[in-house]
Amino acid sequence: MPIQILTETVAAQIAAGEVVERPASVVKELLENALDAGATQIEVEIHGAGRQLIRVRDNGQGIPADEIELALHRHATSKLNAIDDLSHLETLGFRGEALHSVASVSRLMLTSCHYQASVGARIVVEGGQVLDVRGVGIPVGTVVEVADLFYNVPARRKFLKSDATERRHVVQVVSQYAMAYPDVRLRLMVDGREAFHSTGSGNLADVIIAVMGLETFREMVEVVPLSPLRADLPPIQVYGYTTLPSLNRSNRTQIHLFVNGRLISDQRLTYAVVQAYHTLLPVGTYPLSVVMIQVPPEDVDVNVHPTKAEVRFQSPDAVFSAVQRAVRRAVVDATAAPSFQSSPEQAEWDGDEQPNYEPRPVQTPPSQPRQNRLDLDWTPGRYGHQIADDDEQQAIESTPYFPPAAPPYVAPTPPQADDELPERMGTPRRPRTLPILRVVGQVAATYIIAEGPAGMYLIDQHAAHERILYEQFMAAYAAQDLTVQLAMETVTVSLGAMEARLLEEYREALALLGFEVEDFGKNTYQVRSVPAILADRNPAEVLKSVLQDAERGDSPAAKTIEDKLVRRVCKSAAVKAGQVLSHTEMQGLIRQLERCENPHTCPHGRPTLIHLSRDQLEREFGRT
Ligand code: ADP
Ligand code: MG
Repeated sequence: MPIQILTETVAAQIAAGEVVERPASVVKELLENALDAGATQIEVEIHGAGRQLIRVRDNGQGIPADEIELALHRHATSKLNAIDDLSHLETLGFRGEALHSVASVSRLMLTSCHYQASVGARIVVEGGQVLDVRGVGIPVGTVVEVADLFYNVPARRKFLKSDATERRHVVQVVSQYAMAYPDVRLRLMVDGREAFHSTGSGNLADVIIAVMGLETFREMVEVVPLSPLRADLPPIQVYGYTTLPSLNRSNRTQIHLFVNGRLISDQRLTYAVVQAYHTLLPVGTYPLSVVMIQVPPEDVDVNVHPTKAEVRFQSPDAVFSAVQRAVRRAVVDATAAPSFQSSPEQAEWDGDEQPNYEPRPVQTPPSQPRQNRLDLDWTPGRYGHQIADDDEQQAIESTPYFPPAAPPYVAPTPPQADDELPERMGTPRRPRTLPILRVVGQVAATYIIAEGPAGMYLIDQHAAHERILYEQFMAAYAAQDLTVQLAMETVTVSLGAMEARLLEEYREALALLGFEVEDFGKNTYQVRSVPAILADRNPAEVLKSVLQDAERGDSPAAKTIEDKLVRRVCKSAAVKAGQVLSHTEMQGLIRQLERCENPHTCPHGRPTLIHLSRDQLEREFGRT
């Protein structure tokens, strides 16, 4: 092919790849535009996981009719004039690329009415080609509709993940922006149902409760700004909320960082948060945190990447240490355990630094959470005329948001059998897959030492039990013979927006496994039954951990959702490392393992046992 200059359309489609990766990236760009326009209320709607339709409506200042065509041009922006403007940017957008990119890979309709105009305008674009521009009457604000995303870029379409995954990314983006802008009322509708809303109360705590759930929030402490260590350091304010060590995750996905209201992904700063928990959290576990970082605009470069998710700081070390100090101070003050008083970090802070705040221990939720409902009618923002909404406020205050507290969960006493583990270990006889093993003892309350004809075996009790339960569960599942344990007392669990979505998605699969869950309104659910092997666990906790695992998709070998959920259920039900087992319990466990189809690995693929043959032992001791 001879060298030729790409047509504008192809060039735009290629460039769009940098900004628009998936439905959630469109939602992000449109949200940023609405926020930049000063909207106080934004509604995001998606259909078909955003592939079919994404609609974002705001009550911001709007676009003048004579500029509406321009808004869709590449490098067309009202937010930046000269390159110097970049150094004191106060808007989320500035590259003038988003609308142009989105329009080149979808069918886009932009309708807007500027706050100083009496009439609005609408433009319809398909694959970058303008089809129609006309005047229309709409309230002040903007509506952007993006239909058939990537209809003309099959390669992109192919890379999209399942609907569930794409929806989850959208929920994530919307809830993160809700956290960054607590004074904006944000609502997300997924296929006509409300998935999330924030009230615009201006209170970050309210939004965190809506996003992460009240139970998580109760385990959080407030991070408050500290005065800088030295006067010559740039003024960096760090605030937000972070969990106590008692609540943690096995991944970093719930550490949310914002710089000047902009959501960022920054490995180093994420590490600063993790570092703040040094010695407080076991290695491999991570907090849930919402960390807001305010720096002077001139000290941060946001023009690093087209998605603006990466930023560069003038003094990255100062930001790192500000984040780490503020988070650690909050957590240490709240936990105040003697074991780390002597840690070097602590010693360093005990110098002459004066915290400029009253330490605040474990959070109680705000007295009257206000995020009851987002009224269905549209409120004109600061650019339209305000409706006096005293009545509405009244209605909000008097509607109970949280259902009455559930009675505390009382774990039923597990049945005690002589030669079995407390958990249901009875199985039909199956062919033996391991030689007969004799238990010798337990090491570190984690490993069982056993002896067989071919030498010595070290067995990971947790992994082995997971394997046993998994095979039992799958067999019962295949035979449609799962025993279900009705909850003795119905347990109410309040989920975060993300978890609630996952629950909705996996509801059927969960029901098949024995989880019967009933809607209690406002992302709150009642657990009516659980799989019998989980009878002695707290149903709410089990449900949450099953959902978290489903979210993470950390079980790549699992072919189906059910399979993945089963693995998680078994993991929850299995004896833990660190649990002292009696000789008979160990022997019972090994009897079961001997008859597993695949006794050598746990359902997640890790080994259940290590075999040291007689030969190996003799070689090690130099006997041969
Ligand atoms: P950028 O946000 O980087 O300026 P975009 O392509 O996202 O670039 O938007 C182009 C321009 O269109 C913006 O600068 C703004 O003037 C206008 N615009 C886009 N969306 C909105 C909106 N929701 N409300 C008001 N103006 C908007
Ligand atoms: Mg923009």
